[in-house]
Amino acid sequence: MYKGIAASRGIGIGSICRLIEHDLSFEAKIVSDIAAEKDRFRKAIDSFVEDTNAMADEIRKNIGPKEAEILLGHAVMISDPAMSGEMFKMVDAGQFAESALTAVCDMFIGMFSQMEDEMMRQRASDISDVKVSVLKKLLGVKDIDISKVAPGTVLVCKDLTPSMTSQIVKENVAGIITEVGGKTSHSAILARALEIPAVLSVPGIVDAVNDKDTAIIDGTEGDVYINPDGEVLSKYILKREEFIRKQAELKTFFGKETLTADGDKLEIYCNIGTPKDAKKAMECDGEGVGLFRSEFLFMDNTHLPTEDEQFEAYKEALETMQGKTVIIRTLDIGGDKDIPYMDFEKEENPFLGFRAVRYCIANPDMYKTQLRAIVRASAFGKAKIMVPLVTTVDEVRSVKKFVEEIKKDLRAEGIAFDEGIEVGCMMETAASAAIADLMAKEADFFSIGTNDLTGYTMAVDRGNAKVAYLYSAFQPAVLRSIKQIITAGKEAGIPVGMCGEAAADPLMIPLLMSFGLDEYSVNPVLVLTARCIISKWSKAEADALADKVMAMDTEAEIVAALKAAAKE
Ligand code: PEP
Ligand code: MG
Repeated sequence: MYKGIAASRGIGIGSICRLIEHDLSFEAKIVSDIAAEKDRFRKAIDSFVEDTNAMADEIRKNIGPKEAEILLGHAVMISDPAMSGEMFKMVDAGQFAESALTAVCDMFIGMFSQMEDEMMRQRASDISDVKVSVLKKLLGVKDIDISKVAPGTVLVCKDLTPSMTSQIVKENVAGIITEVGGKTSHSAILARALEIPAVLSVPGIVDAVNDKDTAIIDGTEGDVYINPDGEVLSKYILKREEFIRKQAELKTFFGKETLTADGDKLEIYCNIGTPKDAKKAMECDGEGVGLFRSEFLFMDNTHLPTEDEQFEAYKEALETMQGKTVIIRTLDIGGDKDIPYMDFEKEENPFLGFRAVRYCIANPDMYKTQLRAIVRASAFGKAKIMVPLVTTVDEVRSVKKFVEEIKKDLRAEGIAFDEGIEVGCMMETAASAAIADLMAKEADFFSIGTNDLTGYTMAVDRGNAKVAYLYSAFQPAVLRSIKQIITAGKEAGIPVGMCGEAAADPLMIPLLMSFGLDEYSVNPVLVLTARCIISKWSKAEADALADKVMAMDTEAEIVAALKAAAKE
């Protein structure tokens, strides 16, 4: 078995077609007729631009406009004066077109591939794609026509360039294996858009296989098998059927309400980090945003974001969500989340230190700037304020006092906002769970952060491998805490959600349903999966399971019982 990066989900089984790279070496000649050389170069570039635009048209029709942009970007790139101008200058000075092209492209490739940012590094591979394509035009080299491969073909190549991907006929390509590329590379994006299973970054795969070898690609796990035995093949044929069945089933949940088997309505929200992610939440059919981690606005910056900068970001998320709820968590920094320009003092125990709401209350100018930006943005949708890491009722009261002061100022200034904007608590500490009844009197809503609640309940540092066995939301102590928080919220008549990872865990969902959780906030890609699982459980079934596991003593027993009861 070969291991690579799981870039596009699903199981692909088929016969290999290797896309071998051509020998593109050339001998640099001295150019005697500069005008003719420039003409040859111009024709190669024009032909490349023409082909690329035609391929972009195909992609737009077959895949979508966003994906077509990638190829259009290539045509623009070569036409950019910074690139082609430089190349023509070299030809003017007597250089061979192939040499000018290679020298300028390599210079840009070198520059972009050094950059930290993955998007920038991606530009290096785009330029390399352009270089190879134009070089082939100059050398008169023709590629395999990918659009003509037989049904059930697995493409194996060093790198699947956007120009290659554009020729793929979805029905004929069972899978893709490459030697380079990551989860966010263009080949990965295009493979996902085409829903073709892909495993990328499998070292040496091109030389390790032959045309017509049988390949199995598990694009969910990142596994590749070449010429597997009958047993492995049968296993993956079943897995492929199961995957196809599951995908078809999930699609039927798109655009539907989230209903239990009894027809009770629940809600699936999304966790997002940036306003742009709100688009993803909408595309994935999220019913709201249950956690907007506002700290990313602070982390991806070199200065404290101003009120207006924050206002624009929150407004963008609210407008994108078109009136659906957006719960904005106020700044949750410190602990594992450092912001260099804020100069946090080093602490012996940062997870138990001066962080999140504690830091915010102690820095009212900074905090009120954020709260004012959120309250102003509330005029553009359904915003809610969520306070992280609360441990005392006083903290909630302090934040609510700030919000009231801000509302008073905004009224006086005649600035619009939602008078009813709610202030809720992120329930993620052992203290907040213990006094959930008291918190429920102060808060307009609860959202349970199981990532931290597990750590703070079990006294476990998430990053410490030696105690990782204790870090589980299925520990009886954590489950009791979750139940206690939900019960307290319900008794006080406030809505209770969950935005920790556990909300999307198929094993956890029936327990949460039994405890009475209203809103499940998950990674956008898991919305349909969570909705599907909820649809399979009735309250009576979930209660019976919860009664059974809540009487168990150990995490291992609980997980085993939940696995045995799981509905696929
Ligand atoms: C949590 O603690 O469960 C949570 C959602 O917040 P974060 O992971 O950002 O700490
Ligand atoms: Mg947390």
